[in-house]
Amino acid sequence: MWSDGDPFLVRYESADGVIRGARPTRVIGERNGYLATWLPAATPVAVPVLADGRGLRECSLEDRYTLPRASRVEPWRGEGIVMLFPRAAAHSIWLFRQAGGEFWGWYVNLERRHAWHPRGCDTRDHVLDLWCERPRQWKWKDEQELEQAVEHGVVSAAGAAEIRGEGERVARMIERWHSPFCDGWEAWQPDPFWPVPALPDDWQL
Ligand code: MG
Repeated sequence: MWSDGDPFLVRYESADGVIRGARPTRVIGERNGYLATWLPAATPVAVPVLADGRGLRECSLEDRYTLPRASRVEPWRGEGIVMLFPRAAAHSIWLFRQAGGEFWGWYVNLERRHAWHPRGCDTRDHVLDLWCERPRQWKWKDEQELEQAVEHGVVSAAGAAEIRGEGERVARMIERWHSPFCDGWEAWQPDPFWPVPALPDDWQL
């Protein structure tokens, strides 16, 4: 379905049920059931913000989960990332690089099972994440934020248990150094002449 070089738009539903985030990327391949895409530095991305303009990490949790939201388009900060999407599982994996481009680590973003469409896929962030800097080692990230999301009724207790279960499943993949972690994506290098992907005007539609 996807060929190398195809534009691939990843869209994120926000806590209010509206698509408010988007990342335009480029397909770079598929290995062992994971589609890989590339998000270069400075790519214009849409991020969810509060309607009053504050970022979601610049306000209280009360405000984060109760005030109306909007979107803002801004350049992707930091180095480019390879993003890995499983065909049918509730996570994606982002390969972070340090300034200068050296590989840093695997960030497992727990998120809703992807809804695939002709432009890419839609998902929703599941708050809890995992971080892996060395083969077979991992740790949770943002555990407290998931608890707070449950307290605010944004995630149900049953939903949180499912999210943790998916995290545990990926943790076992890391411990066994299973695909896609052992697939060599950390050595992949972009063509420096590729243009930065464009965010389509109708990304929200
Ligand atoms: Mg996350």
